[in-house]
Amino acid sequence: MLFKKVWNYFCRGRRKKITSLVIILIVLVNVMLYTSLLLYNTVQNRNNKHWYDRIHFDQDSYVDTKGMRVIVGHYVGGNSGGNLTEEMVNSNNYAPVEGVGEGGRPVQMTQREIITARELYALHSYNILVSDKISINRSLPDMRSESCRNVQYNLENLPTASIIIVFHNEAWSTLMRTVMSVHLRSPVGLLKQIILVDDASTRRYLGKELDNAVANLDKVQILRSTNRTGLVGARLMGAHVATGDVLVFLDAHCEVTQGWLEPLLDRAGSDDVFICPHIDLLSDETLAYTKSIDAHWGAFSWRLHFRWLMPSDEVMMTKTNNPSKPYPTPAMAGGLFAVRKSLFWRLGGYDESMLIWGAENLELSWRAWQCGARVEITPCSRVGHIFRRHSPYKYPGGVAKVLNTNLARAASVWMDEWADFFFKFNPSDVTIRDHQSVAARITLRKNLQCKSFKWYLENVWPQHFFPTDDRWFGRIRNEKGSCLGILAGTPGLGGPASGISCGSDLDLERLLVYTMDGRIMADEGLCLQEGNGRAVWKSCNNSHKQVWKQKRPRLKTPEGLCLTQLISNSKDGVTDPLTTKRCVNDNGQIWHFERVPWR
Ligand code: UDP
Ligand code: MN
Repeated sequence: MLFKKVWNYFCRGRRKKITSLVIILIVLVNVMLYTSLLLYNTVQNRNNKHWYDRIHFDQDSYVDTKGMRVIVGHYVGGNSGGNLTEEMVNSNNYAPVEGVGEGGRPVQMTQREIITARELYALHSYNILVSDKISINRSLPDMRSESCRNVQYNLENLPTASIIIVFHNEAWSTLMRTVMSVHLRSPVGLLKQIILVDDASTRRYLGKELDNAVANLDKVQILRSTNRTGLVGARLMGAHVATGDVLVFLDAHCEVTQGWLEPLLDRAGSDDVFICPHIDLLSDETLAYTKSIDAHWGAFSWRLHFRWLMPSDEVMMTKTNNPSKPYPTPAMAGGLFAVRKSLFWRLGGYDESMLIWGAENLELSWRAWQCGARVEITPCSRVGHIFRRHSPYKYPGGVAKVLNTNLARAASVWMDEWADFFFKFNPSDVTIRDHQSVAARITLRKNLQCKSFKWYLENVWPQHFFPTDDRWFGRIRNEKGSCLGILAGTPGLGGPASGISCGSDLDLERLLVYTMDGRIMADEGLCLQEGNGRAVWKSCNNSHKQVWKQKRPRLKTPEGLCLTQLISNSKDGVTDPLTTKRCVNDNGQIWHFERVPWR
């Protein structure tokens, strides 16, 4: 009865039209919601099939031709999550659901949860809703190779470990899962203590509630810094009270897997090495534990941003012949490593004047190598880490100021001529550098009789793409006007090489290294490569396809083809892709090498 009345009221005259429109709209919205749900489920199902063999990657990373995941840009802070209430920020909503996330599986969400999860994402730059559903004792897959699983360690002979986990406003469930994973998977006799260092967190649940939670756990203690000291300060606080033989540093959003500690302690025992685990990926969206690519090492770009790259051929050989052997890396990622306490202090701990976050990993890596120690990765210790796209926390003074201060300090102490290179092309950092006092660190370098940065590049990272005195550096300009280079925001790796507008002498995007054996290298380890009549940017390797002989005024492939720019007009400052063609009388095949001093 009532329904009929309502119907008659709405469905007379003009109202009828409006009502039909509204009904159509409702139907449409529902259909859209339903299809997106279907789509989401299909993606989830596909993920389920071989989820552990897939590499999760995001906008800030790409996978290069050899399958290596390269993380790009990492310093974006300041996503404050403006709409979140005090209550949301400060409450601990850990409520594990049986079976969820077990075995390191990805966690699925309902449509409604997805909306909430998005809202909360800014809190930690990972999916806290999913984290709160996974037990802090969850099981994980064993990603070790067969040969790693077969290594027998004599536990009696291994040194003991102090695990140091620093955090600032971390999520409760993620932090506790880090702690519990260590607790569950470290041989009792080797685990001396777990030291949590709270770097002035403001979240309510990290106070008494955390105290209570760890009070019941054997060997766990909490130190609290009253001021925000940054990760260097916090790690040093932990290191000062550590009583184990070896310091093992972990971020507060890690999960260690079976057998993770023994290979670290086995290698750290030798007292000349900073040893890193193989870092696997914990998805920031589903918390799935995913294998990361087998062969990677750490290095850095011209702007001193940390990068994962393909290791040298030599290391690749070792990895094939002896897959359980630790291998050297030019740099460590920073958060996860083990080192004998005595070596850590002998080499000067950390640079205490480094702020909040960043560059301490490069400083430590250069210091280790240049001062007689090594940095290595052991493939047998596997630890998952949530790689975040953005820093969720505040950088007092601003992210640029913090990061540039740290970079300026590290560069001025350790990089010699390459510090001049860094400051020349990052002139805004010069003022920052001039306000830094690094005298104590330089004294340390002298006292330890450390080697030069030149030695480091030549011996630790001979495959590097930095300019040197026996490499040409500058701009390569085509007679038709444009220059060889890679515009920011274009594909770069794997993308076609094009001419771009020539810019200024300080434009790193147009500056290239030309090596004595004919390789044209850009920043980020990209080399100009010929393939099927085209020129493309690829990861530098030993292939003859990356050799360009300079036969003035031409650039020729070993087969005698000429690098050619077909037409001179360009769209948005980028020309058509360059080609390799038979050499003819054409301005598009004339290349001028304009030298730019690199320091
Ligand atoms: N951290 C800290 N104080 C700070 C900044 C970071 O204690 O001022 C901690 C942070 O909680 C984390 C570790 O240092 O456990 C490394 O930071 P993050 O994970 O953000 O670095 P990333 O892994 O992204 O390099
Ligand atoms: Mn981290």
